[in-house]
Amino acid sequence: MTAFLDIDLGAIADNWRFLAGLNQGETAAVVKADAYGLGAAQVAPVLAEAGCKTFFTAHLAEAVALRPLLPGARILALNGLEPHAAADFIAHDIMPVLCSLEEIALWRAAAVRLERRLPAFLHLETGLNRLALPAQACAALRDDRALLEGIAVDTVMTHLIAGEAPEDERNQRQLAAFLAMVAAFPGAKRSIANSPGSFLGADFHFDLTRPGAALYGLNTSPAQPRPMLPVVRLSAPILQIRDLAPGESVGYGGLWTAQRPSRIATLGVGYADGLHRTHTNRGTAIFDDTPVPLVGRVSMDLVTFDVTDVPANPGDMLVLLDTRHGADELAQEAGTIGYEILTSLGRRYKRRYIGA
Ligand SMILES: *Cc1c(COP(=O)(O)O)cnc(C)c1O
Repeated sequence: MTAFLDIDLGAIADNWRFLAGLNQGETAAVVKADAYGLGAAQVAPVLAEAGCKTFFTAHLAEAVALRPLLPGARILALNGLEPHAAADFIAHDIMPVLCSLEEIALWRAAAVRLERRLPAFLHLETGLNRLALPAQACAALRDDRALLEGIAVDTVMTHLIAGEAPEDERNQRQLAAFLAMVAAFPGAKRSIANSPGSFLGADFHFDLTRPGAALYGLNTSPAQPRPMLPVVRLSAPILQIRDLAPGESVGYGGLWTAQRPSRIATLGVGYADGLHRTHTNRGTAIFDDTPVPLVGRVSMDLVTFDVTDVPANPGDMLVLLDTRHGADELAQEAGTIGYEILTSLGRRYKRRYIGA
């Protein structure tokens, strides 16, 4: 019996159009991690069709895989330029997001070798402190133009720490730091907003926004109502129903014990399929219109629900994700975020792409 993951490509395209309508500048699409687990090869061409012209992956290999599917689009790899990778970037027409003076030197050397200008984004550090050019490096680039010789700096970008909290003062601090740093790159376009940043207002939009999660229906600004269309529906059949007497337990460790005569439904879905072990005794599925609680440990390939109060039978479907109970809600039950739910869905569902 099969569990189904239905992915609504039309809703993803509509979400992109909605985000594109929020700002005056360009709206890109972040399709890293296989489009947040939903299938970059299916998602990216649909977004290109909707009008998206710039795509971000994390790794070069992800970008290379998309190149034949996105003729004419710009594809960038966020994680930077590794030593010896310049030739592959050039061969596949992928633009790097340069994150250090060393990477800039590698790209410059490639430009000098080829005797042509090579385009790039520069990632500027404004507080996240992962991969980006700190203020001293920006000053060095400002003071010694030869460091960027042969590099056409298309866009300077930074990334928000806490965009999901509009009132968090770090957003304004990062904006101010960014504006101070970009002065060193006259003529370059500017980009700061991811999905939550797209909802922070026009000050954060600049020339290019970079939404990912919102395209896939996640609510990245929890204080606001979710404006995005839901994108995924996940349903799995009941393999067996077990009658338990009071005192009998379910699953590894016996972490749930029946307090009353109980009917326990087992689904062939586990933590290898994007449920989390922290869903143990905490998740929810839906039978018809009624929520049923996850009981016992989530194991790798199986999970159990208490269906005592609903007329469920083996073969009936329980819904794990849909418009009523989305990835944000399932994530909350596990103490994580919708991003992690989507990127953990794995490869074992029967995927059905609809709405394209
Ligand atoms: C992942 C990522 C994004 C997209 O973030 P969402 O919150 O999913 O919209 C944008 N910019 C950078 C640099 C990223 O790493």
